[in-house]
Amino acid sequence: MSTSSDRYQQSPQIYRFKLCQNQEDFAHISILIYNIRTLQELKQRIIAEYGLTSSRIRLLKYSEPTQRWLSLPDSDQNLEIRYLNIANNDYISYIELKNRQYAYVNSLSNGHYYPRGTTSIIERKAPVTSTQTLKLFETPNLNAKHYFLDDLLFQTTTIKLIKQKAAEQIQIPYINQKTNLFVYDDKNTKWTKYDHILDDCTLEELDIKNCTAISIKIDKDIADDDGDNGVTAADRHKKVKRELGICGLKNMGSTCYMNSALQCLNSIPQLIKFYETLEDDHADDHPVSDVYSKLIKRMWSESDQSSCITPRQLKAVVDKIAPVFSDHRPKDSHEFINFFLHALQQEQPVLINKLFYGQISSTVTCLDCKSKESRQELISFLPLPIENKTQIQIHYIQYNGKEEQLSLELSVKYRTTVLDLIKCFIHKYVPNLNKNQIKPVRLNEDQISSEYKLTNYLTTLYDNRIALFQLPSIDEEEEHMLCLFVNYSTQCQFRPPVYLIKPKYNCRSSDLREQLNSIIQHLKTTINDENMKYEVSWTTIDRQRQNLNINDNDNQILSTIRAVTISLKQSYVEIYKSKQTKVATIMQSKYLTLEKLLGNFFLEDILDGKYYCSECRQMTQGKQKSDLCRPLPTIFIIQLKRFPYDKYSNEKIDTFIEYPIENLNLYDYLIKTDEIVINDDDSQSSRYNLISISNHYGKTLSSGHYITYAKNYQTQRWYSFNDDYSREIASDKQTLITQDAYILIYMKQNADYKT
Ligand SMILES: [Zn+2]
Repeated sequence: MSTSSDRYQQSPQIYRFKLCQNQEDFAHISILIYNIRTLQELKQRIIAEYGLTSSRIRLLKYSEPTQRWLSLPDSDQNLEIRYLNIANNDYISYIELKNRQYAYVNSLSNGHYYPRGTTSIIERKAPVTSTQTLKLFETPNLNAKHYFLDDLLFQTTTIKLIKQKAAEQIQIPYINQKTNLFVYDDKNTKWTKYDHILDDCTLEELDIKNCTAISIKIDKDIADDDGDNGVTAADRHKKVKRELGICGLKNMGSTCYMNSALQCLNSIPQLIKFYETLEDDHADDHPVSDVYSKLIKRMWSESDQSSCITPRQLKAVVDKIAPVFSDHRPKDSHEFINFFLHALQQEQPVLINKLFYGQISSTVTCLDCKSKESRQELISFLPLPIENKTQIQIHYIQYNGKEEQLSLELSVKYRTTVLDLIKCFIHKYVPNLNKNQIKPVRLNEDQISSEYKLTNYLTTLYDNRIALFQLPSIDEEEEHMLCLFVNYSTQCQFRPPVYLIKPKYNCRSSDLREQLNSIIQHLKTTINDENMKYEVSWTTIDRQRQNLNINDNDNQILSTIRAVTISLKQSYVEIYKSKQTKVATIMQSKYLTLEKLLGNFFLEDILDGKYYCSECRQMTQGKQKSDLCRPLPTIFIIQLKRFPYDKYSNEKIDTFIEYPIENLNLYDYLIKTDEIVINDDDSQSSRYNLISISNHYGKTLSSGHYITYAKNYQTQRWYSFNDDYSREIASDKQTLITQDAYILIYMKQNADYKT
């Protein structure tokens, strides 16, 4: 008997809150959590609900008053949620904790913009050190006491992070601007000092490879230490007379998007030459040009040798004109370039139009009356969509024994399931089958190591392998049974099994004869030997193996059968395996070329919906084609649309796109009409060379960092600009073609900027 107050006590507490991943509030999903009492239960529910691969997560709650993400207490897993002060519609974020796969970087203390809050995650690249080999010395002296640094260092690890890890390990309570990192260079047998100016630089940027010994030390101690022969890396960097235009830009708090955009534009000689000589009278009439001109003059000054400038004035003017850029929240470098060019165009229309603006002609052809309608559009950049499709190799095993390697192009998103893959596979290859006739499994060494559920997410498949078995269709009286293939001498399986049909009850050899003969015929054909010897056996329910004579007319009773095995001699197995289709069922890495993206963009395509045809005077079907118009702009800016943000996903498309450094030819995309005689000049003036790249690092626009690679028009060499830090880089494909490229700026080969 329960009273009404008891029932009240037992009724589940329901929490409704907005769940975010990695403190990004735009992607939140409202979830309802009920029947949950403790923090641990809440975590488990979130892990299950989102199919997370890691078993450990950390939770944070967004605090409106302080505008900060606060960690929920992590020590007591049995803490009840009702004590956590979570209200309905609160923002809760989870961070997946993976052992040694993520680096935690304190985002409050450096200028780069990671998600607001206390901690952020940067995916690490390959480690540059291995554990137990990196010695951490108490002082920069190889005779000093040393430890081994517990953590791995990666190319993306910053100097500051190493200092923090080292301080933690040798129990220095804090690090500050006077804390220097020393890295021992085996080759030159010297310690190199990295002071706080280089805190935000990564090992990759500083070209630190294979370091075997490090140490940290506070500045004042060094003065007392006579034996120290450290060289300041930053000093060395500063002493070199900087070349014109090679000038870092200080991060003013989440402004690396702007710095990256400005460094991209700084590779355009016509722009530099114009603003370098712009007089500053009537500055009020053209405020953007004025501050930009001042910045350019400093960056290209012969006398000013500062390696870094703070573009504060320019930021102030931009904030005033476009308040959207004024908060210290993450922004898009492409959005900034677009805004900035537009602002300059208002003030210097002739120059900016000539340099950057081109026209795209869009023609719609009516499928009924074939009449064409065109319209022209001014563009200052080309936004190229990236097909977010993954090539998946599928190992398909038919029940007659045939094996095939088939590939599927599938757009794999966070919630794409095995069922989605199967539907796509059926549609493309086996339209006569239904989903119940396909069995998804993981194969390991020709054995089924696990069966996938239709609801499994593709992104969580173990090592991305998938094999699909074709199942023969059965009726209610029948069921499926495995037929295995083993090497007679080793008893190892030499190919994947197949599925047979057997009656649920009273199975006889005649029920299997036809099926087994067709499989044996497949083996004979593959081996190319009609006289192939083989042995067929059946396994009873208590795992006894007995001989099965399928060609005997005597109808053997196999009522306790649970599997069939076909055995071949070693020599046959070897021939069979040599003829067998190669098993390579790993998802291929994603790769596209810029030419392919351009080709897709300018391809004639059927319009999605209907349009109004003015000839037919009604809604009709049409096809649409875009073309570039003459003359092409001097500077051609391409945006690789890595952030599609559709309703299913906010993931960055990290497809590797190969783009030409020289000789991008836009000739094929120029409009071809009868009226315009195509002249030979077109093929010359449609060729472009790359002059700068804005690289975006990170998974989302709001949690990333930008670094620009740009070619200096005077030195004709390439440099990397990472906020205040700049350095020369190689001008080869390996360096300049990156998976992180987001904006590409090309300049016409025959552009004249010498005068
Ligand atoms: Zn028409």
